[in-house]
Parts: sequence; structure tokens; C-alpha cells
Amino acid sequence: MRSEYYKTKWCPICDQGWVEIVSVISTGELVLCCSECESEWRDPTNIMNNTVETYNNEPIQAADWKDIVEKDWDKYVIE
Ligand SMILES: [Zn+2]
Repeated sequence: MRSEYYKTKWCPICDQGWVEIVSVISTGELVLCCSECESEWRDPTNIMNNTVETYNNEPIQAADWKDIVEKDWDKYVIE
């Protein structure tokens, strides 16, 4: 259980995990990543089966709430 991650949506790919906001360590960019299957998305308004990003190996970490607010993504966080 990684409670420090912010959930946005139930994953449409695996139907077993939450799509959470994470930060790419190398760039600081926020992306959305499934806690179970590690599918990735760039756009919280468009988390669909056919908009999933190609998997990449970039290490990620929990996103800062401050950065989420700055990006105006806080409204997508459900918990
Ligand atoms: Zn998933």
C-alpha cells in the first residue's frame, strides 16, 4: 500500500489498480501511472484504453501535492 500516491481513476487497462499521479524523477514531469499494471497516461482528462502511453522505464516517485496543484490536476484526485 502506497498511501502517499494520489489516486485519480480506476485503471481501464487492467481493472485491478488505481491510476495515480506520479513524478518522473529525471524530469520532474507529472504523469499518471497505474499502481498495478504500470500503464501510463499524460492527460488526466483522457484516461482511456486507447490513449495509454508506451511503457517506459523512467524511475518515478510520489508527486508533491504542491506540483499537482500547480498543474491544476488536484481536481482529478479522488483521495
Ligand atoms: Zn492498470
